[in-house]
Amino acid sequence: METRLNQAIWSLPTPDRIKRLPVSATGYYVPWFVAWIDREPDFRVIGPGKLAQAVNRKLCWICGQPLGVYKAFPIGPMCAINRNISEPPSHWECAEYAVQACPFLANPRMRRNEKDLPSDHREPAGTMIRRNPGAIGIWVTKQYSAVRCGDGVLFRLGDPERVVWYREGRKATRAEVEESIESGLPELLKRGEISADELTGLRRKAEPYLPA
Ligand SMILES: [Zn+2]
Repeated sequence: METRLNQAIWSLPTPDRIKRLPVSATGYYVPWFVAWIDREPDFRVIGPGKLAQAVNRKLCWICGQPLGVYKAFPIGPMCAINRNISEPPSHWECAEYAVQACPFLANPRMRRNEKDLPSDHREPAGTMIRRNPGAIGIWVTKQYSAVRCGDGVLFRLGDPERVVWYREGRKATRAEVEESIESGLPELLKRGEISADELTGLRRKAEPYLPA
């Protein structure tokens, strides 16, 4: 297999845990959770059994090694409000690497590619907001809970120790995070899982975790 790193990521500071991951033909480190289909990684698909292994053995979603006390969740701005996410936590340094290196997380203009998904592909638990969130936060917490939701698991985020926001692989400004939240709110309301009053309360609660 071609193991040369993609030019976009070869100069990024790379944690040792990430360097142990396989490299795709396109030159990206392949996160531990990714499914391999016909010996090619499909970055959009979660590998069979990976979710259960990550939860039960407390493994990092990105590198697959045991987690420490602090758990890092790369989140879209709406998750800072409803505190639900469908993917389990990672090491801080793995999450920080991912938001800079992952083409989807790093570049808000990129759309999720949903063409040719394998037929046994399952949607993550909960309802995903199917848009690129623009800004990505890393929510670092000691606490979270896993809640069964249909066939999958939904993670409820505990209060954060800190939240660091990124956009296009660099730190995001407060205005960028606010803009991203404002553009996502109508959809959250439309889905009817939350009332306008509840939203106001949750928004106030998320306020301290936005960039200064
Ligand atoms: Zn890791």
